[in-house]
Amino acid sequence: MHELRPTGEREAQLWDAAATVPDPEIPVISIADLGILRGVRWEGEQPIITITPTYSGCPAMDTIAADVKDAVEAAGFPRPSIDLVLHPAWSTDWMTEEGKQQLQDYGIAPPQRREASSGPIPLTLSAPVACPRCGSRNTQKLSHFGSTSCKALYSCRDCHEPFDYFKVH
Ligand SMILES: [Zn+2]
Repeated sequence: MHELRPTGEREAQLWDAAATVPDPEIPVISIADLGILRGVRWEGEQPIITITPTYSGCPAMDTIAADVKDAVEAAGFPRPSIDLVLHPAWSTDWMTEEGKQQLQDYGIAPPQRREASSGPIPLTLSAPVACPRCGSRNTQKLSHFGSTSCKALYSCRDCHEPFDYFKVH
């Protein structure tokens, strides 16, 4: 169960409708597991869905907002409003463990856990990125930018496959 899913029945129905929306770029992961979906509430009879964009290198928010509206309306809740919240900024720490597993199954190395004490200071990763295919940590970074700017391109020295790493943010 997602930690942000509300306990009230009416809110939970709203959450479940919005949570089904997949990320447009990585359709195996939902916006809930990605950490984009932040909350739902009712203002009278109007559903309000709060989302926080991933960093600007992942330009899909218009698509996501439209998809969320469609999904909520399809679930029987008319005229939803999308509330875009920019602060606090989205972080890969908001990604659920299930979401990270889905990324890995898809062939993208999930973001590594942030050092607890790092705060706003640029973090140093304690371990090399593991290959999502064979699990080897004998990997090297080929490019800071992979298929999108939120990912880096890596190569595995053991299975010799290139792969995307979803960068910690
Ligand atoms: Zn490998």
